[in-house]
Amino acid sequence: MSDNKKGFITRSLHTSFPKPDAYNALHMPVYDGVAYEFESAEEIADTFAGKKFAHAYSRTSNPTVEYFERKMQAVTDARSVIALSSGMAAISNVLISLVERGGNVVASNQLFGHSYALLKQTLPALGIEVRFVEMTNMEAVQKATDEQTRVYFFETITNPQLEIVDLSQLSSLAKANGVAVVCDSTITPPYVFRSNEFGVDVEVMSTTKFISGGAAAFGGVVIDNGTFDYASLPALKTWANQFGQGALVARIRKEVFRHLGGAMTAHTAHFMNMGLDIMPLRVDRCVENCLQLAAFFEAHKRIVACNYPGVEGTKGYELAQLQFSGKPGAVMTFDLESKEACYQLYNRLKVMRRATNLNDNKTLIIHPESTIYAEFSEQEKREMDVRPTMMRLSVGIEDIEDLIGDFTQAL
Ligand SMILES: *Cc1c(COP(=O)(O)O)cnc(C)c1O
Repeated sequence: MSDNKKGFITRSLHTSFPKPDAYNALHMPVYDGVAYEFESAEEIADTFAGKKFAHAYSRTSNPTVEYFERKMQAVTDARSVIALSSGMAAISNVLISLVERGGNVVASNQLFGHSYALLKQTLPALGIEVRFVEMTNMEAVQKATDEQTRVYFFETITNPQLEIVDLSQLSSLAKANGVAVVCDSTITPPYVFRSNEFGVDVEVMSTTKFISGGAAAFGGVVIDNGTFDYASLPALKTWANQFGQGALVARIRKEVFRHLGGAMTAHTAHFMNMGLDIMPLRVDRCVENCLQLAAFFEAHKRIVACNYPGVEGTKGYELAQLQFSGKPGAVMTFDLESKEACYQLYNRLKVMRRATNLNDNKTLIIHPESTIYAEFSEQEKREMDVRPTMMRLSVGIEDIEDLIGDFTQAL
């Protein structure tokens, strides 16, 4: 059987090491040191000149991190993968590397808070314009696009709204306009979402979430499917001459990431290597818990509404089936009759944790309107559909009876 026919977990577990281990270790060791030695003047000179690859200094590359990149490549069939220090490092490196001064990004107006701030504050200061639109509205996307548009940037499922972009529509539009499709697929990791089958050029992910294996460490990854013509972008033209479809990751690795210092550490890569192997088990369990909780909410008289696109009849259900194998992550929301009722419920919970992260192994719950969106104006909250009556859950892998039991006593 060829490697790309094997299943996700098999591929992840049995990804070969870049080099045979000196002790035949089965588990990739943590190469914690900073620098690597060379045999000769010629060898070190060739490495520095880029004529051959060898690890020289861990801020630019490291064996344990390289192994994590190989594993991600093995499970995604991507053209090139680069691991970075955080999800934000992955997002910022990609956008800075793709878009030149004077170019623009058309981005979703429903984004993870710090991504929104990066696009609203930091990129414009670098001369990159950002146009926020409703990404599910193709007319709005088209209207915002012009000759200087380089990237469409959005999340596969927005949070807490849980809106899903129709990828075939958006990628056709992007192709017609010569624009790169870059999605943040943190909520829908490669086990449930094969981005290269849906016209996505580049995926960015926070591996802090599902992949780290229980919120163990910070990390990010750039997954380049190698489908975009980088020679057409002013920012990558010269890189494309030398590296072709590998231009984006080459520029990140050799310039932007190296100079901004966004390296993943070997210890972090160790967590990611372990977390990735069992991620599908955790995702399946989380999705099953979400479906059972949704059924519980549906039947409970104090729950006014519940949103999880894995449930038939919910908005986005068909796209979730098609694009995310029917496993649209583990974030769900529900509404109570008032903000006071939300607070009361919140303070009574005993099993679930009051915290803001996503895709920990533990179930985390938060009231977005008074926390994540506290700095937004009432109008912005309304536009983003962040309601005072809404709670957000990041469902973990606990025994479902205990989660339902916790809600039953708190409600
Ligand atoms: C957490 C998150 C990020 C940022 O990732 P970090 O690893 O915290 O930098 C970006 N996008 C989404 C959708 C996230 O949930």
